[in-house]
Amino acid sequence: MGVGGNVGDVKRRFRHLVFALKRASRVDIVKSSIILKNPPFGYENQDDFYNTALEIKTSMNADRFLSFLLHLEKRFGRKRSFVNAPRTLDLDIIFFDARLINTKRLNVPHPHWSERESVVIPLSYM
Ligand code: ADP
Ligand code: MG
Repeated sequence: MGVGGNVGDVKRRFRHLVFALKRASRVDIVKSSIILKNPPFGYENQDDFYNTALEIKTSMNADRFLSFLLHLEKRFGRKRSFVNAPRTLDLDIIFFDARLINTKRLNVPHPHWSERESVVIPLSYM
């Protein structure tokens, strides 16, 4: 999964996220990557982003896992305002095994992942 944020103490929030994932019963962290600091895209008048990637093993299906991630985003203070807006925590499913999923609320692999340094660089330092 991809993890990002650019509001407040993002690195501290990433550490708390890792604690929360370690406590979650249906989730195991297999690998984690470096934390990349990189400029925003889309809406550029905002602070730099921190991005990282986690390889997760889970007994949840993809849809259930997405709900779990959206719940975590909320818990970590995410407010949705506009597309590409600043965010405390953005949790995205990049891959889910080798599955192709295209439903109303879930596209896997994550669209455009391969064009984004914020995804590709962390993935190459797992
Ligand atoms: P983005 O990450 O593109 O900036 P958001 O984090 O606001 O956008 O996500 C909005 C919606 O994207 C989520 O509510 C979710 O339903 C949908 N979505 C589609 N595919 C994925 C995916 N692979 N991972 C996470 N969210 C996804
Ligand atoms: Mg997202």
